[in-house]
Amino acid sequence: MPLYEFRCSACGSFERTFPMSTMPPSLACPDCAEPAVRRPGGSPGRGSSPVARAVEATHRSAHEPAVVRQPPPGPGHRVSRDPRHAQLPRP
Ligand SMILES: [Zn+2]
Repeated sequence: MPLYEFRCSACGSFERTFPMSTMPPSLACPDCAEPAVRRPGGSPGRGSSPVARAVEATHRSAHEPAVVRQPPPGPGHRVSRDPRHAQLPRP
């Protein structure tokens, strides 16, 4: 189960594990019972799972979009070898 970090404004942070489907947005602090919010940027699974890597890549691409502007140079990038596809209209 992924490990989530919660932050209490009075006591600091603590960690709990939840199944992803039942992850609450906030949790009562174990020390003072005040609602503690999930720490922003706290990564589930410590960045080791494929889901966590996908989430990190999504956050990264919000600032540095990984845009492909043209096909890679050189031969071998043809998508199709079917000659009928060459007759299709081009944008
Ligand atoms: Zn607390």
